Amino acid sequence: MIQAEKKQTILIADDEPLNISVVADILSQEYELLVATNGEKVLQILTSDTKPDLILLDIIMPGMNGFEVAKHIKQNSDTAHIPIIFLTAKHDNESIVKGFELGAVDYLSKPFRTEELLVRLKNTLQIFSLRNALNRALEKSQAYVKTIETQMVLIDKNIIISSTDLEGKITEISDAFCKISGYTKEQLIGKNHKILKHPEMKSSTFVKLWETITRGDTWQGEIRNRSKEGECYWLDMVIYPLYNEVDEKIGYTAISQNITDKKRVEELSITDQLTQLHNRMYLENSFKTEIRRSKRYNHSFAVIMLDIDYFKEVNDTYGHDVGDNILVSIAKLLSENIRETDILGRWGGEEFLIICPHTTDVEAFVLAEKMRKTLESYPFEIVGKKTCSFGISVFDLKDEGYKEVVKRSDEALYKAKKNGRNQVVEYQK
Ligand code: GH3
Ligand code: MG
Ligand code: MG
Repeated sequence: MIQAEKKQTILIADDEPLNISVVADILSQEYELLVATNGEKVLQILTSDTKPDLILLDIIMPGMNGFEVAKHIKQNSDTAHIPIIFLTAKHDNESIVKGFELGAVDYLSKPFRTEELLVRLKNTLQIFSLRNALNRALEKSQAYVKTIETQMVLIDKNIIISSTDLEGKITEISDAFCKISGYTKEQLIGKNHKILKHPEMKSSTFVKLWETITRGDTWQGEIRNRSKEGECYWLDMVIYPLYNEVDEKIGYTAISQNITDKKRVEELSITDQLTQLHNRMYLENSFKTEIRRSKRYNHSFAVIMLDIDYFKEVNDTYGHDVGDNILVSIAKLLSENIRETDILGRWGGEEFLIICPHTTDVEAFVLAEKMRKTLESYPFEIVGKKTCSFGISVFDLKDEGYKEVVKRSDEALYKAKKNGRNQVVEYQK
């Protein structure tokens, strides 16, 4: 529904009621009217909440004259914005100049022409309503700027945020980011974002990250960084492309959360504390992932299980601590000899397990044999030589879960023990 535009209000101030009625007759159709017969009355009307949009002001009035009234109006910040048009019989040059000096926007001499009064009023009202709208917009945008400035300070202090150019050179970085990284803003701005990266972070993660953001997409992931003091911290990072006003990509912004504590707990729960290898829980979860992958791509994986030969003797002869050291050394030797895709962990006691994705029995045999040889020739501290026995089996796509393949590897390992130890045995039906 279109609403009729609200009529604007004009205050007519004149000490002569007849003058008021002449003007009122002309204006009453188009405007709401207020009238005052002296200066004091004008000021009194202006104290109310609904203010006129324009004042037609006579100069010669008993008591406070029009100039004094205008001065009061312009000095009061509540009313200074209201346009004043002098409408008076006093049209000597001096009075006209004085009227304008006091802030009047126009000047009409009595007697006036009806048309002229209407046109001048209309013009003034139009100009002032535009000016007032502009002022209101300006005030509003100033208030926005202030809010944004306050928020920027809060963001800088509390949010881990950084921006880079297209090459990854840091252009902006928040205090919160500086704090966690141990660097100052001056030390980071202008440097490549790589300066923050932990050396052990996989390069494949960064390849994917750059692929995603150079395409213009958003990347999210976990990033391991290293502080200036060399400490590791983890960030869950979202990286967005940044565009300028003409829609050209100019860089990237990253907003992060510190997830270091969460990662520590996670790592603890999947790590064997003695050997620092993955623990059984991790291996069991990896089986599930590997089985899914095998079924999807219709290829298999191998499981190598190994057990230290005559380990009890080590404990019995040299004590439990020496036994522990052997376990740590073997864990290290094994992790140095597996392939990058293999998953190695401590299955329990002195038993280790390796999941070899996309691997045949023959390939697994070669790998196990290589490990067996490495271990049998390694000179362990205090104890000297030790050997291990290996059992191998391959996941069968008919297997329901991982338990079957682990059981088969265990049976093969048992056979290796029975056959004299220090050997690799592949499961046979
Ligand atoms: P086999 O060749 O038949 O495997 O003989 P073994 O002596 O290695 O086997 P057995 O199962 O009789 O003994 C395993 C020993 O491993 C007994 C146990 O005390 C020891 N062991 C298991 N976990 C640890 C550990 O964390 N630290 C130490 N030091 N010893 C461990
Ligand atoms: Mg043993
Ligand atoms: Mg054992």
